[in-house]
Order: sequence, then structure tokens, then C-alpha cells
Amino acid sequence: MVWKGWSNIKYSDKFDSVFTAKMWKGWKKAKFEEELDPNFAEKIAQMPGCDRIYNCIQCGTCSGTCPMSVYMEYAPRKIIGMIRAGFKGEVLSSYTTWLCASCYSCTARCPKGIKITDVMYALKRFAIKEKMAPSKLPIPVLANEFFETVQKYGRNNEGMVVMKMYFKTNPTLPIRNLIMGIKLFIRGRMDVIQDKIVNRAQLHKILKSVGSGH
Ligand code: SF4
Ligand code: SF4
Repeated sequence: MVWKGWSNIKYSDKFDSVFTAKMWKGWKKAKFEEELDPNFAEKIAQMPGCDRIYNCIQCGTCSGTCPMSVYMEYAPRKIIGMIRAGFKGEVLSSYTTWLCASCYSCTARCPKGIKITDVMYALKRFAIKEKMAPSKLPIPVLANEFFETVQKYGRNNEGMVVMKMYFKTNPTLPIRNLIMGIKLFIRGRMDVIQDKIVNRAQLHKILKSVGSGH
């Protein structure tokens, strides 16, 4: 399955057609216990805001309240269950976390006080670190390109970041959005020259000290 870009998605039935193939593929494949990662849940539980995942009673309140669950391969309740069962590959490569809109509805309603939104953020970070995020979905590609640019130069460059995302996910989009790009450039809303901070070495040192960066 190849992600064809947000502009192709206009109606929920199109979302369904995009996601059904992956969803079905996931459930068709039987998984043996030795293929699971028994340490996956512990690694996630140690990340900020994720310490309560073992308290989940699988009530489904989070999935029921989630406005995005209809588009997710695995709704929030299932994601928590899969983390605890060790389905590392399926969880980290799924679209689910990237479709989370960070509305905090699940977190506000969970009867066990599980910070599901924080779990979603943790999974995103983990997926990028392990290079398991879906490579053709624009959201993780954009997040990664943004981080790489800020890490390298200390400043974002919207134009370059968006162009890199386009080329990695759907190279036809720069042509389709050319007019809009020109208008943004003329109005000074999109820069083509990369801005840099002076003391980049210090930034790299700070990022390294928190376990990020080069
Ligand atoms: S609402 Fe909380 S306890 Fe219920 S399934 Fe979701 S995470 Fe688990
Ligand atoms: S924070 Fe994310 S997972 Fe939770 S309800 Fe909102 S969209 Fe769904």
C-alpha cells in the first residue's frame, strides 16, 4: 500500500479504502509468541507519562471517545493491549499514533488515569528512533524532517521541510502545489534560504546531553 497524500483523501469512504488493506493484512497474519517482544511494554512504561499502561482494564472508553479511532488501524484500547502483549512491530509501524489529534479526550475519560495521549507521543518518538515509523505517511516524515532541520541549524525552514516531505511521500505534490508555493514566497511566508543560529555547537551539545542529536 502506498500513501497517496492528504489531498486524495476527501471523504471517510476514501479513508476506509486506504486503511482497510493494511488493517486486514495485520489481522490475517498469525503471530507466534516467540515473535513478540516481551520487553516492549516495559520500555514504553519507562517513558514519560506511560507508567500506568499496566493498569488498563480494556474497558474501551478511550476508543469510544476518540474522534480519530474510525480511521485508525488499531483504536487506543487495542494499542494499549498490543503494547502489553509485545506487538512491537505492528504498533510502531502503524498509522494509529500519527493520526492521534492530541485532543486529550481519552486521557480525560480513562477510569484508570492512563495518559493515553502521552503514550501516543511516546510511541511516535520510539518509532522514529527505531526507524519503524511508516515511511510513506506524510506526518512522521514531516516530523522527522522538522527535527533534523532544527537539530542541524537551530531554526526551521518551512519551505525546505515541506519540499523534503513531498519528495519522500508523493513527488507529484510540488507540481500540484506550485502556484500556492509561489504565492507564499512572494508574500514572504516561505523562505528558501536556511536561517541558522550562531552557536550550533552548543545546541548539539544540549541535544546530546538529553539523549538526542548527533
Ligand atoms: S479507557 Fe483507560 S482503562 Fe479503558 S481501555 Fe482505554 S486505556 Fe484502558
Ligand atoms: S488524544 Fe488521540 S487517541 Fe486520545 S482521543 Fe484524542 S485523538 Fe484519540
